[in-house]
Amino acid sequence: MMGFNYFFMFTIFVFIFGACIGSFLNVCIYRIPENNSIVTPGSFCPVCKQSIPFYCNIPILSYVFLKGRCKFCHNPISIRYPFIETLTGIFAVLLFYKFGIGLTMVYWFVFISVLITISFIDIDHQIIPDIISLPGILIFASSFYFLPEMTIKDTILGIFAGGGSLYAVAFLYFLIKKQEGMGGGDIKLLAMIGAATGIKGVFFIIFAGSLLGTFFGILIMVYTRIADSKLKIPFGPFLAMGAILYIFFGEQLIQWYLTILRT
Ligand SMILES: [Zn+2]
Repeated sequence: MMGFNYFFMFTIFVFIFGACIGSFLNVCIYRIPENNSIVTPGSFCPVCKQSIPFYCNIPILSYVFLKGRCKFCHNPISIRYPFIETLTGIFAVLLFYKFGIGLTMVYWFVFISVLITISFIDIDHQIIPDIISLPGILIFASSFYFLPEMTIKDTILGIFAGGGSLYAVAFLYFLIKKQEGMGGGDIKLLAMIGAATGIKGVFFIIFAGSLLGTFFGILIMVYTRIADSKLKIPFGPFLAMGAILYIFFGEQLIQWYLTILRT
């Protein structure tokens, strides 16, 4: 068939698949902090509790067709649902473009999905649930199997570097400011990230995460006019952003940084 572009079709397919997973992540973000099952019951409206029929639960599209309102009670549906579905779909496509279909793509897609879930729970509740991060350390320790550049040694060093270095920073911060700056949740998250990226990734991600956190922290402070001490900005989402940057551009950014240091 002339003009039939398989690559384009496949991109659409990967995006739809990612958006469906994003729909599931919405359920996890909403239910895990409340200790509710992520399997049953099916989706329901958080306001009127009506269960949502499958044709009103299609990622992104349903939100558009329902004009952002519940079919039954007409209360507004948070824009975050289609946002997270779109975001997950986009990451699926970007991973497909960078790594092709294979073990590496699958590994990083699961990893990014977990990071998205953790980030939004951290934004909502200022916690990173152990029920995600602790099994996450074990699950992502399979990086030496899924990622060609990783060895068992890299994985183990990454876990300890991630857990240990952030623990040291938290301890220093406590000594200087006499208050807790970083939660234990961040330390377990970074141990999980270390299992995936190894020791090189850990240092890149702490550096990038701190830069991003400072930059957005100042923006948020200026925008909301709330002083630093009163504002609680979770660190988890910035570590997650740093980790995602590392997956896509880590190698280039480290090389670029080393070149600058040499000149
Ligand atoms: Zn409703």
